Amino acid sequence: MPPVKAAPFDPLDFAVRVEAAARATGFRVERFGEAGGCPLLALTKRTPGPRPRIYVSAGIHGDEPAPPLALLELIEAGAFDARAVWFVCPMLNPVGLARGIRENEAGIDLNRDYRSLQSPEVRAHVAWLRRQPNFDLALSVHEDWESVGFYLYEQNPDGRPSLADALVASAARFCPIDMSAVIEGREAHGGVIRVPGDPLERPLWPESIYLRANHTRLAYTVETPSSLPLAQRVATLRAVVSRAIEPTVKP
Ligand SMILES: [Zn+2]
Repeated sequence: MPPVKAAPFDPLDFAVRVEAAARATGFRVERFGEAGGCPLLALTKRTPGPRPRIYVSAGIHGDEPAPPLALLELIEAGAFDARAVWFVCPMLNPVGLARGIRENEAGIDLNRDYRSLQSPEVRAHVAWLRRQPNFDLALSVHEDWESVGFYLYEQNPDGRPSLADALVASAARFCPIDMSAVIEGREAHGGVIRVPGDPLERPLWPESIYLRANHTRLAYTVETPSSLPLAQRVATLRAVVSRAIEPTVKP
């Protein structure tokens, strides 16, 4: 288990701010569960007419405060507008965030629990996901305590037009890119890891694998380096998420 390193994060205060900002910008707010007395929130917004369906999540690792803060800022800024149908889960591990630890109260890494479903947080999340349609795009927003720069994982099994290079370029305006040939034990090119083989065969499923198995054929997990100042990580993730949702704009 990594040492506690994250800045203090108040999940109840965050939930209040998210709910207020979401309602003010037209979201429906759903409490699909709770953890440590804090609600697990899903925000949805549907605009009539054909729209891409985009899913965005954050806060599954409690020692990664920048992703939920970036989503809150994007909600407050009105970034999730009428261009798409939105499904946003901004804080999947409130107990971990309160304690600054990666796992939940029971020591379970929620982002390895989407096959075995041992944690109440992931069971509640999956129960909510099962009520949702397929997504045209899924984004899982993270940060990494060991990386030297921004990088991302792409799951694009059908070879759809890739957003990977555009996302790296948007991140590069705010932070260094991890240009290592191997990141997290996987082959990487220019900050991009294309998940090889059939990840569904893995014994432990992160959220992104569950999404690929059940909801989407285009998924990105984006990671900023935790060694940078928090404001810089938040700015990087805001830019990356903004860029990810940009090409799906339809008139
Ligand atoms: Zn993470």
